[in-house]
Order: sequence, then structure tokens, then C-alpha cells
Amino acid sequence: MAKGTIVIDQERCKGCTLCTLFCPQHVIIMDETRLNGKGYHPALLSDAQGECTGCAVCAVICPDVCISVYREALPKRREVQEAIVHG
Ligand code: SF4
Ligand code: SF4
Repeated sequence: MAKGTIVIDQERCKGCTLCTLFCPQHVIIMDETRLNGKGYHPALLSDAQGECTGCAVCAVICPDVCISVYREALPKRREVQEAIVHG
């Protein structure tokens, strides 16, 4: 499965929790230990096991466009073919 990660703009997050509810991997939590400049507990990636797939559901659902998604590039077809040929 593809590997991904996200960066959440902590200062723009309004603490609505939508990303935590919609992430299929359940790797986003609300940071109850701190408040951002707007006075909200911001969302936080909690992914010690590397389970984020980079699916981007969280970025799409976020009403304030706070989340940037990074996804591991898949190998190009030629690289896959060479790996098969050369082992
Ligand atoms: S990219 Fe997908 S798996 Fe990763 S945190 Fe967002 S919703 Fe969850
Ligand atoms: S959906 Fe966006 S605004 Fe809402 S908690 Fe997640 S990052 Fe913050």
C-alpha cells in the first residue's frame, strides 16, 4: 500500500475534528495539550506505525484547507521492468 504523510497548518486549524472522523487509517487526533492562536485545539498527525496512505481524504474534507498531503512516488514502469529483468 502507498505510503504518505501530511502536514497540518496548526495555526489555521479551527478544531472542527472532521479530519479525525474521516481518516480511514485513524491517524489524526486532536491535540488536547495545546491551543493555537485562534484558541482551538489543533489536529495532529499521530502515525508512529506509518499507516498514512496519502489518500488525501483529510485534505479534501478539511473546510479550511489546512492539510497538505505528501505521497511516496511510485516507481516508473521502466524501473519495475528493469527490476524484474535484472532481479
Ligand atoms: S492522507 Fe489519508 S490516511 Fe493519511 S492522514 Fe489523511 S486521510 Fe488519513
Ligand atoms: S478538518 Fe481542518 S480545520 Fe477541521 S480539525 Fe482537521 S485540520 Fe482542523
